[in-house]
Amino acid sequence: MEPRYDLHIHSALSDGTQCLEELVPLVARAGLAGFALTDHDTTAGWAQAAALAGEYGLDFVPGAEFSCRYVYGTDSGSASKTIHLLAYGFDPVTSELARQVERIRASRQGRAQAMVERLAADFPITWDQVTAQAGAGNQAIGRPHIADALVALGAVPDRSAAFERLLYTGSKYYVPQLALDPVDAVRLVRAAGGVPVIAHPMSRMRGPALSLEYLEQLVAAGLGGIEVFHRENGATDRERLLDFVRGYPHLLVTGSSDYHGAGKPNELGENTTSTSTVAALREQCI
Ligand code: AMP
Ligand code: FE
Ligand code: FE
Ligand code: ZN
Repeated sequence: MEPRYDLHIHSALSDGTQCLEELVPLVARAGLAGFALTDHDTTAGWAQAAALAGEYGLDFVPGAEFSCRYVYGTDSGSASKTIHLLAYGFDPVTSELARQVERIRASRQGRAQAMVERLAADFPITWDQVTAQAGAGNQAIGRPHIADALVALGAVPDRSAAFERLLYTGSKYYVPQLALDPVDAVRLVRAAGGVPVIAHPMSRMRGPALSLEYLEQLVAAGLGGIEVFHRENGATDRERLLDFVRGYPHLLVTGSSDYHGAGKPNELGENTTSTSTVAALREQCI
């Protein structure tokens, strides 16, 4: 079989549960040719991941995942939807994207603290417990680490239950995170020389699936690919996405696990991307 890539993996630098020294050997053991590290809002793992990839004979694609917020009008006012944008091969230092992401990353702590304050009214949770769960080098503290602290307290059995019962968007404990508009984010990734790929577009975990009309707007802004093969896109939705892509020959179709270690049930390599797609993705990087 042709060697394949897993283009969506999180480490403990964001909300995965394994550090890179633990993670990269597991990627090799999964039989993959290469992988992308796509931690939330940080590129801090790129250098070490590239070095470890070399040691284990893996091809490394640098990436990140950005939480964006799409605000739209409704009959009764406005509503919003969180959209995750993957980005590969962008300039992580001097670009406007890097500047914006740094601003968002820096705001994470205050936002997470605000959620902990709300939770502390009902649970014996402290900020120290959350930072302990996130770990010393964490770059993107957020709800997953609050979830882990709630699990440690015995308030919920696992991360998924913490999200379902307490941390979901709209819960009384929820405080929104600063986020880019998705169209702006697509443009910023391109301006930074990278390739923007929409993550799990038909997932219904964060509200309704993305409409194809809105996907068209992202394509017009410069979207480079769609993560079609992801466990949160159902079979019918995958068919709809593949039909959509036929209208745009430059759009890449990717597949990936969205691995978070013990933080989610997703397994390394459960969905993958072809070598030729990775080559085409690299060609789009400046
Ligand atoms: P935050 O960026 O702090 O709002 O946290 C959002 C992150 O939490 C996402 O990127 C997911 O990785 C994770 N997450 C969201 N929903 C769930 C869930 N139901 N179970 C486990 N992790 C989740
Ligand atoms: Fe995550
Ligand atoms: Fe995501
Ligand atoms: Zn992810």
